[in-house]
Amino acid sequence: MSGSGGDLAAAVARRLEDVRKRIASACAGAGRQAGAVRILAVTKGFGPEAIEAALEAGLSDIGENYLQEAQAKFAATAWPGRPVKRHFIGSIQRNKARRIGALFDVVQTLDDIETASLLDQCARDAGKRLEVLLQVNVTGDRRAGIAPDDCATFARELVSRDGLRLRGVMSVGPADSAATREAFDRAAQALRSVRAIVSDADTLSLGMTDDLEAAVAAGSTMVRLGTALFGARQAKG
Ligand SMILES: *Cc1c(COP(=O)(O)O)cnc(C)c1O
Repeated sequence: MSGSGGDLAAAVARRLEDVRKRIASACAGAGRQAGAVRILAVTKGFGPEAIEAALEAGLSDIGENYLQEAQAKFAATAWPGRPVKRHFIGSIQRNKARRIGALFDVVQTLDDIETASLLDQCARDAGKRLEVLLQVNVTGDRRAGIAPDDCATFARELVSRDGLRLRGVMSVGPADSAATREAFDRAAQALRSVRAIVSDADTLSLGMTDDLEAAVAAGSTMVRLGTALFGARQAKG
C-alpha cells in the first residue's frame, strides 16, 4: 500500500476505535450487547483507498449512494479474499435499478413496488438473491420512504419474489435532533410490523455520525457511518 494509503488506514483504524467506544457506551446505556450493532462504512465522496482502509480495519460492510461513483470505485478497489457486502444507500432512479441490483449485495432504500420488480428481475437474471431493506419515512416530510403504516403491505408484496430477500428497514433521522428519538421509535415499530410478515427480517439500519447514540437506544442493528470514520466530505458538486 502507498504511504498515503497507509496514513489513511491508520487514521480510519483510530477513528473506528472511537466509534466502537461510542457504540459500546450507547449499548451499555440501553442494556444491549455491543456486538448487536454492525457498522456500515459509508465511503461516498472518498476514493477506493477509503474502502480498502475500512476493510483493513476489519469492517465488512461498505455503503455507497451513487451508482456511477460506486461503479468506478469498486472497479479500482483491491477487494480482500473474504466476504464483503456492498450496500446501496442512495435514492434509486428507476432507469438505474437494474444496474444497481447487479452491482450491489444489499439495497437499503427500496420504497416503491415498480423498483422492487426491476430489482427482483435483475437478481433472478443474475442467479442471485438481493437483500433489501424498506426505506421508511419517519419524519413525515417529503423525503424518500414508505409511510410506517404501509410497511406491512409492502412487505407482503415482496414475499413471493424469489430474487429478493427482505431483511428489515432503514431510516434517515430528522434534521431537528429534538425529534430524533420519536422518529427512531417509529422506525423500530415499522420493523416490528415487517417482522409480522417476514419473521427473520431483523435489520434496523438506523443512525449516522451525529445520531448513532439515539439510534442504538432505539434498537438499531446497523449504523451507517461516513464522517465518523473518514472525516468531512467535500460537498457533492
Ligand atoms: C451519507 C450518508 C450516511 C453517512 O453520513 P455521516 O453523517 O457522514 O455518517 C448515512 N446514511 C445515508 C443514507 C447517507 O446518505
